[in-house]
Amino acid sequence: MFISVQDLELRRLPFDTSFAPGQIDLLDELRQSGDLQVRGSAELVDSLGEIRVRGRLEGALTGECDRCLEPVTLPWKQDFDLVYQPDLEIKSPGEEIEIATADTEVGFYEGAGLELADIVREQILLSLPLRRLCRDGCLGLCPECGQNRNVKVCQCQTKATDERWAALKKFSTGD
Ligand SMILES: [Zn+2]
Ligand SMILES: [Zn+2]
Repeated sequence: MFISVQDLELRRLPFDTSFAPGQIDLLDELRQSGDLQVRGSAELVDSLGEIRVRGRLEGALTGECDRCLEPVTLPWKQDFDLVYQPDLEIKSPGEEIEIATADTEVGFYEGAGLELADIVREQILLSLPLRRLCRDGCLGLCPECGQNRNVKVCQCQTKATDERWAALKKFSTGD
């Protein structure tokens, strides 16, 4: 859905739309588990073309567990309230561009408006959790044999410990 400045000059634009899986490009990080609902509205803040876009994203995303690489589904709910200013740099070189204050998130758009899909994509990518685990205390993959340790306990860990003990014993007895 394209949010056009020209339309916004006439009226506030409410939206209630959904993006099918694959419509939002989430890099390799995640994919959509199903439709992503986006509800909200866009309005023109002033005559200079500043646009405010508010709304809520709802859906689910799927990625891999950081430790065991099994699929993890993240229920996704996110509110957003964003301000976009026209990128005037090219149009009017003499005019000074207002610098955004630190506590306001200000983005820029070029030309006739902006794509809602781009806003959604950006919001998701900016809010990705730092760690993505299938469960608290996921045991991950064994670095030795690659076994998923949530499923089966392999013998690598015990063997390594035994070897260390053996080395220690050898050292202490002075062989
Ligand atoms: Zn895991
Ligand atoms: Zn192992």
